[in-house]
Amino acid sequence: SRRSCHGNRGGEFLSSEEETERWMCSAFDMPKTSGEREVPVGCLMVYNEVVGKGRNKVNETRNATRHAEMVALDQLLDWCRRSNLDVSSVCKRTALYVTVEPCIMCAAALRLSNIPVVVYGCRNERFGGCGSVLDVSSADLPHTGNTFKCVSGHRAEEAVEMLKSFYKQENPNAGGALQQLASKKDEASKQTYDELNVSSICCWCEMCPLTDKSVKVKLTT
Ligand SMILES: [Zn+2]
Repeated sequence: SRRSCHGNRGGEFLSSEEETERWMCSAFDMPKTSGEREVPVGCLMVYNEVVGKGRNKVNETRNATRHAEMVALDQLLDWCRRSNLDVSSVCKRTALYVTVEPCIMCAAALRLSNIPVVVYGCRNERFGGCGSVLDVSSADLPHTGNTFKCVSGHRAEEAVEMLKSFYKQENPNAGGALQQLASKKDEASKQTYDELNVSSICCWCEMCPLTDKSVKVKLTT
């Protein structure tokens, strides 16, 4: 796989190539249980063992913040409580493996939690918080947790394929959003269906505030 690393902190919590392969394999399996309703993104949080697992639950919970990473982070918190371990000392030794680049919201949550390293599959051109839209992972921000290391491009083509097939199916959530987008007559509506699928990662569900293009413009300027 073509991998690229950026950021310098957190390298010591990165597992071997072989282990990374195994964790990413589990992350890719996560969305398989969500049926046809959720944008297929899966993730795993590893602190020696798996302490959090997540897939998108945005439509299931009708809550736009229930991205795979946030679901996994909640599990990590529960795991710490049950194990009677301090959250911050666990977080700063935990690696996150996710099929798609974390969005701005999730990247910020990971940063504030002091997660040192994130391994991800494909880029998230529309909402990515690890360089694609904003560089939350490495930006010099005061009082905003710690920067984290990113290792990108792990099974990226497969992650994109998974998203493409989600948007190709007759899905009321995806379909409705695509129609909605086309009616906006913006640049995106001129794209081909396939291009649109690649770029439309994260949530196209109606309640997600990030689907509004003005949000992206506002954040990048
Ligand atoms: Zn997210």
